[in-house]
Amino acid sequence: MSKTNILPEVIQALKASGSRMTKKREQILGALLTFNRPATAEEIRERAELPSSDLVTIYRNLETFESIQALQRIPLENGTHVFELTALGEHYHHLICRACHKAERLNLCIGKDVEGQAKAKGYTNIAHVLEVYGLCEDCEET
Ligand SMILES: [Zn+2]
Ligand SMILES: [Zn+2]
Repeated sequence: MSKTNILPEVIQALKASGSRMTKKREQILGALLTFNRPATAEEIRERAELPSSDLVTIYRNLETFESIQALQRIPLENGTHVFELTALGEHYHHLICRACHKAERLNLCIGKDVEGQAKAKGYTNIAHVLEVYGLCEDCEET
């Protein structure tokens, strides 16, 4: 599915969750669509052409998109996060370059095994995170 096709779905899911599509949300979604890699909140803010005072707004809206499962939050090793728009409910693991933050999707999910064990222990609402870090070919050269 191409990224531009995500928008109507996202708007629909926002409505269903009781949230409105605001001007700022539109700007943030528009900015997210222009990245071909996960981006930091600050990068998203810049590309959405919102003032730095709006960073809290950015985070709040990213949380909203995350709650309707239209956005994946990808943790970096330094404790910060980058964000990537996904089709609703899509779930990926990434191979991330720790220098340039390029992120490739990995074609595997450890979810079934791990979550199976969590379920067996009586847990519900289970989620998991697995990201793999390294230096990409471009960054390693220098
Ligand atoms: Zn790199
Ligand atoms: Zn997974």
